[in-house]
Amino acid sequence: MTKAVHPAEPFKIKMVEPLNMISEEQRKKALQEAGYNPFLLKSKDVYIDLLTDSGTGAMSDNQWAGIMLGDESYAGSRNYYNICDAVKDIFNYNYVVPTHQGRGAEQVLFPLLVKPGQYVCSNFHFDTTKAHVELSGAIAKNFLIPQATDTGTYYDFKGNFNIPALEEFIEEVGPDNVAFFIMTVTNNSAGGQPVSMANMKELRRVADKYGKKIVIDSARFAENAMFIKKREAGYEKTSIKEIIREMYSYADILTMSAKKDAIVNIGGMIAIKDDEEIYKGTQARCVPMEGFATYGGLAGRDMEALARGLYEGIQEEYLEYRLGQVKYLGDRLMEIGVPIQYPTGGHAVFVDAKKILPHIPGDQFPAQAICNALYLAAGVRAVEIGSFLLGRNPKTGKQEESPMELVRLTIPRRVYTQSHMDYIVEGFRKVMEQKDQLTGFTFEYEPPVLRHFLARLKPLEK
Ligand SMILES: *Cc1c(COP(=O)(O)O)cnc(C)c1O
Repeated sequence: MTKAVHPAEPFKIKMVEPLNMISEEQRKKALQEAGYNPFLLKSKDVYIDLLTDSGTGAMSDNQWAGIMLGDESYAGSRNYYNICDAVKDIFNYNYVVPTHQGRGAEQVLFPLLVKPGQYVCSNFHFDTTKAHVELSGAIAKNFLIPQATDTGTYYDFKGNFNIPALEEFIEEVGPDNVAFFIMTVTNNSAGGQPVSMANMKELRRVADKYGKKIVIDSARFAENAMFIKKREAGYEKTSIKEIIREMYSYADILTMSAKKDAIVNIGGMIAIKDDEEIYKGTQARCVPMEGFATYGGLAGRDMEALARGLYEGIQEEYLEYRLGQVKYLGDRLMEIGVPIQYPTGGHAVFVDAKKILPHIPGDQFPAQAICNALYLAAGVRAVEIGSFLLGRNPKTGKQEESPMELVRLTIPRRVYTQSHMDYIVEGFRKVMEQKDQLTGFTFEYEPPVLRHFLARLKPLEK
């Protein structure tokens, strides 16, 4: 293996925020009080926070300057039109409805596209996406490719939609029972893995065959485009913007959490290529749920930061550094024998907890056990992506079997340095030394929906 290389940051630091490190004894107490669920920890008790890359990025001086240019008019703010111009330029979509974040876009849009009882098909539904599909009366079905769950083997586009399985499913249930398709880029739940352009084109073919719409769940659209540039033949010399335009030419609508690749702390949107009827429908639903259709729950200043962030997130030097930093952490973890989803994805390193803790079954949440051990060892907060997140079958109430039990080390954008990455690796070294002593967890309190956010757990006896 070649030595891990950390790319130099394409920015310098203008403002700093102190980090706080509490003692191991204090961490033990904090974790107990948090019900062994890192979501319930206070951030002041966390040293390095890898819970999520959502809204945790560092805005640039240019974005902060834009904040001062917020136009706080209730209707028709100029900052809204700046978003519209950026969306037209980058995605070539005509209509924009801003929302307070990604799930706001989902709750406004989905009920317009589904009839109760229909299926919504995706390469993988993000957790809030699945929740909003279900709240609108539909059933979420995932179509991962087999390579996605084979964590140890390299594959360029593990995020791809399993098109043959999708077509088989549509024939089985009948096209009328399928509402629309959601393509998630990058595929968060499969490990931040990219989707190829060829796969997007294929999904368009199937959509046209059955007369279905394609929604791109666009949180990490820029990272996906960079992977296409680096890995897919024919795109080596294509600009990121051109790649994005081609990706979105194969879809109809996008929902976006702008808290990821658009590098803002809050914001989201729906954008529509050309369907005026859907645009009118989303505007009408936006008003009671998010706010008037030219602000959707955002202040004018937030919209300006978003419009500028869309451009910063697609800069090639930035994306080179971004994917490179994540790869560096993954490479160093592999060097010390930690099994990861390989290759690393765009926004996170996903550690394969099933391989580290074969003695803990899925319904005792092995990845959660690693998250808790990592916090105790190093004050690093990670998040479980496995059975704990997946939850129960809504019909039978039985725990669903997750194909993977992963620990996600999510890297905020432009926030942490190489020394922080090295520190995380040392934390993992300690976890690996005690892995055979770790135990699973069971519920003390289990909320009915999206349980992983608020659940309280207790450790099982060895
Ligand atoms: C974050 C995210 C969402 C939801 O967005 P929020 O801004 O957290 O509401 C939806 N889909 C994907 C793929 C995401 O990463």
